[in-house]
Amino acid sequence: KKGLYPVVIQAACAGCGTCSAECPNDTITMRHFTDLQILGQVDAILEEKPMEKVVAFACNWCSYAGGDTCGTSRLQYPASVRLIRTMCSGRVDEDFIWRAFEKGAPVVLVSGCHFSDCHYISAVTWTQQRVEKIWTQMEKLGLRPERLQLDWISAAEGQKFARVMRQMDELLKQIGPAEVEESRKIVAEFLREKREKKEKRLAKSAAGETVGAAAGPKEGG
Ligand code: SF4
Repeated sequence: KKGLYPVVIQAACAGCGTCSAECPNDTITMRHFTDLQILGQVDAILEEKPMEKVVAFACNWCSYAGGDTCGTSRLQYPASVRLIRTMCSGRVDEDFIWRAFEKGAPVVLVSGCHFSDCHYISAVTWTQQRVEKIWTQMEKLGLRPERLQLDWISAAEGQKFARVMRQMDELLKQIGPAEVEESRKIVAEFLREKREKKEKRLAKSAAGETVGAAAGPKEGG
């Protein structure tokens, strides 16, 4: 409900993290997969030689497990791919993706379960909607939307995992430093405006224009 803090019924929570990713005010903290933990991984990956990295978010049950199948099948995939595990692709907050572009990632991949396999029933539909929204925003900002990729890889699809990662590596080679540098500036400005809007919204809320049912962030997962 508008103006009220969310209340998570922990016994009913399956732990996908979608609510944490979708909350516009970041009032829901996902245990073990907090914003700070994931943003820290993004920053660490891109701290050195970002032009040589693909930031790939992979869900625990399918895509990340697909990476394990790839490894145990002794298939190889490019070393440029750096994986960040989340329980569900629904946890991949748009802030994580924007941060990766701000820090100079040429390519970002979001990967999750096939629609019929989603371990959280419909969380993957939120993933798709979110990525489509970011593609639209990227177009508006003048960024190439294909720099953000979305794919579905099951735990059994080790070969597909290797193929998708090779495709990401190929895409990486098509993106030059000038384009990345320009997009870093555009995204930094976009995030600055986004932060300002959020601060204004929260200040308005704190001033009592909306009534909080309870104070402080809530936990999901
Ligand atoms: S983390 Fe729990 S409360 Fe949040 S959307 Fe997923 S199942 Fe629902």
